[in-house]
Amino acid sequence: MRIVVVDPSRTVLKIVTRLLEAGRHEVLPFTDGPEALAHIKADFDVDALITSAELPSMTGMDLCHETRRLPASRRPVYVVLMSSNFDQSKLIEALNNGADDFIGKPPATEELYARLRAAERLASMQRKLVQMATTDYLSGALNRRAFFERAYEAAADALNGEKLSAVIFDIDHFKRVNDTYGHDIGDEVIRLVARTAMAQTDTLGRLGGEEFSFFLRGRGMTEAAALAEKLREQFSTLQINAAGNPVMFTCSFGVSEWEPGDSLDGLLKRADIALYKAKTSGRNRVVKSETPWGGEEELRSSGIIRFATR
Ligand code: GH3
Ligand code: MG
Ligand code: MG
Repeated sequence: MRIVVVDPSRTVLKIVTRLLEAGRHEVLPFTDGPEALAHIKADFDVDALITSAELPSMTGMDLCHETRRLPASRRPVYVVLMSSNFDQSKLIEALNNGADDFIGKPPATEELYARLRAAERLASMQRKLVQMATTDYLSGALNRRAFFERAYEAAADALNGEKLSAVIFDIDHFKRVNDTYGHDIGDEVIRLVARTAMAQTDTLGRLGGEEFSFFLRGRGMTEAAALAEKLREQFSTLQINAAGNPVMFTCSFGVSEWEPGDSLDGLLKRADIALYKAKTSGRNRVVKSETPWGGEEELRSSGIIRFATR
């Protein structure tokens, strides 16, 4: 496991680090809480935090508490509070503050290993659960809920001035694929589409049926449209074998870019309108959302009031 260890004493840090490394764990030592917290926030591969209760600029309890407040759905961090004098009221406080476990300081070797084995069991179970709760079973893309969770985070950064763009795409005449070759082949096409798109983006979400979306943080319309065009081309060259028959397919894309005063809902609605235009103007194409767009009026006239972002 990748473990952040926090203790004001370099001697204690050294002892714990040696123990953990001997148990084949990777250790990131810190003498101060805020620095450790900043690291945990930035490094998504941290599996566990072992912190002393007594720290200089922020208490170990506070560090537990702050670590627990990180979005646990994506990164479960196992938190162990370490103290040389634990009375029962302290234990209760530690657990109430988000610690998963506690250990004496300096920790006894076998006890530390045993507690970390328990942490590993829990972490692997949590990873599986998170994976199941956030992934669409058929395609492997993010499910709707996970997609919107991440999109809301991206939108928060866009509100602070970061660029953001979104793409929605949909397989063309997919009903025909199902009708002609059967549902299983349709499923295979959905899987291939998702796999191909996921090789280009880690934000791909399956919005429903054969409709997907992804967003690009820090990038605007031009880059999003270029990526959409690349995918469009790629899709048009792929095929699936249905009992000896090649099955080809294409996709239509709508692209939008965050504008001042925008919302996630607005961003996706504009991409959706652009997708609708791509469909009505012949399919197998990328259409950029026009700016300024016609607002709710354009939405109503296009007949797309189906976008519920939650
Ligand atoms: P268009 O080009 O306008 O998008 O036409 P279309 O036929 O793709 O559009 P439509 O939305 O009418 O049809 C989508 C079809 O996708 C209908 C539904 O049966 C099928 N579908 C939805 N989810 C799945 C799935 O998980 N697997 C399979 N095989 N088909 C699905
Ligand atoms: Mg379709
Ligand atoms: Mg559709």
